[in-house]
Amino acid sequence: IPPTIDPLSPKNAPIPLEHAREVVAGFGIDPSRPLITQISRFDPWKDPLGVIDAYRLVKKGIPNVQLALVGSMASDDPEGWYFLDKTSRHAGEDNDIFILHNFQGVGAYEVGCFQTASDSVVQKSTREGFGLVVTEALWKGKPVVGGNVGGIPLQVINGETGYLVNSIEDCADKVLYLLQHPDEARKMGKAGQDHVRHHFLSMHHLKNYLHLFRSLAIV
Ligand code: UDP
Repeated sequence: IPPTIDPLSPKNAPIPLEHAREVVAGFGIDPSRPLITQISRFDPWKDPLGVIDAYRLVKKGIPNVQLALVGSMASDDPEGWYFLDKTSRHAGEDNDIFILHNFQGVGAYEVGCFQTASDSVVQKSTREGFGLVVTEALWKGKPVVGGNVGGIPLQVINGETGYLVNSIEDCADKVLYLLQHPDEARKMGKAGQDHVRHHFLSMHHLKNYLHLFRSLAIV
């Protein structure tokens, strides 16, 4: 039984685009310029350094593109702080890279705003569990460029709801393609939203558990 998202939670209930843009602008993003986002803990398997490298390749084609790396920090996860530092060093002095976390006021609702306001959502994991952030982004009608690992291929149907990628170059190519073909991106985003509607909302969780209990009850 795969995990699901609650479509009525503050993070996943519809957020008007204009409002989402205002919220991300409050963190320094220029909403009139394209924005790539990855929402993830600062963890080597989420590959934020690879996302920065992919963004740098995209920037050669679209010079005004911005990147937001948004992650929550657990106070009992010293590796997270270490990896956050490493990510910041990798970003260097690039003012178009925004590295944000919950201690700066990015909570669940703001995560929903970033997913809504982004032009491209990336989940460039090299290892993954299910990848709820992918579900959340697809639900907001964003095609996801994701690593071909864990639960991501259950959600990202290659070429239909986003793209599965295996390298930095591949990731950059697909992000660039989607940014340059907004109509196609919208179509894929709609397909992704339908995919989540049919498989990964909390109602399906309930239904799947009821099926399980029924199958266990009939012995
Ligand atoms: N999340 C969040 N704030 C952040 C980063 C992540 O609320 O700054 C949430 C994200 O929206 C998702 C969850 O944390 O619901 C992460 O789940 P996922 O399965 O993607 O990854 P995990 O961290 O469990 O490996």
